[in-house]
Amino acid sequence: MKNKGLIIRSTGSWYDIRNEDGHIYQGRLKGKFKIKGFKVTNPIAVGDRVLFEVEDEIENTAVITDISDRENYIIRQSVHKTAHGHIIAANLDQAILIATLAMPRTSLGFIDRFLVSAESFRILTTIIFNKSDILNEEGLAYQQEIMDLYERIGYQCISTSATEGAGVEAFEQLLDQKVTLLSGHSGVGKSTLVNAIAPDLNLRTNEVSTFANKGVHTTTFAEMFELAPNTYIIDTPGIKELGLMNTAKEEVSHYFPEMRDRLNQCRFNNCLHYNEPGCAIKEAVAEGEIAESRYMSYLSMIEGGDNRR
Ligand code: GDP
Ligand code: ZN
Repeated sequence: MKNKGLIIRSTGSWYDIRNEDGHIYQGRLKGKFKIKGFKVTNPIAVGDRVLFEVEDEIENTAVITDISDRENYIIRQSVHKTAHGHIIAANLDQAILIATLAMPRTSLGFIDRFLVSAESFRILTTIIFNKSDILNEEGLAYQQEIMDLYERIGYQCISTSATEGAGVEAFEQLLDQKVTLLSGHSGVGKSTLVNAIAPDLNLRTNEVSTFANKGVHTTTFAEMFELAPNTYIIDTPGIKELGLMNTAKEEVSHYFPEMRDRLNQCRFNNCLHYNEPGCAIKEAVAEGEIAESRYMSYLSMIEGGDNRR
């Protein structure tokens, strides 16, 4: 008999499958699975919906026979086989980037790179600015300015203090009935925020040492946690940036919503918005319609090695 399940953890060749009653089986894959277009090192990822057959009721083992089509997925270039992709997670409803303008301060460049990756995977992002309690008046004004900047381009922003409880309810409501990728640099307060709404859950955010992880064994696996019925968060320990896979320079501006809206106004349709004449993007930056910091992030992405091709 075939059962429906959700992949909540992957360790390479074994997968934790959660059935509709919440029972967990250890499953393996039968047969070969491919996704069209490119090769992947892992055919199944956290968040995948599968069909499986129970192999052994006592040992809780199962065989995965089918994978449902994905609504979306995040993929990175494989650390081991550079021509391959490694799927980090599938079927996400949204991403939440936890940042802070206190310590350790999240750079706007990092926020922008995250947003661009999420755009490329067609995943909506909300930005949380945590540790608002330790900002002074000037810091709070700056935070408001940054929040306004991102809200203008369409990203919802929430100010929180995980330790004092401010904004925690809004965070909880945002997660309700959704599958959410939760990201942020270590130290921004991700575990404190999650613990504030789900004290029983022990997020392993700091378990994978980023230092020890720099060696050869850099394959990291995402993990899914159930906070409430139909409410899941996906944690990606050890993954610092999502990055862009197979993205040409010309495509990068498509992932900046405020640029995307103006692209057809540039004189050249292959404009990189660098120093071409008649560039609507540069004009919008000069007029203050596009934030300078966003344009700087854009430039560093097309100049740097962020766009891998
Ligand atoms: P993670 O690495 O993102 O999971 O960060 P943690 O949740 O472990 O938090 C890192 C440190 O920041 C801890 O000492 C927390 O107590 C502290 N912290 C987390 N959130 C806040 C906050 O909103 N305000 C203040 N003042 N400290 C916080
Ligand atoms: Zn242009």
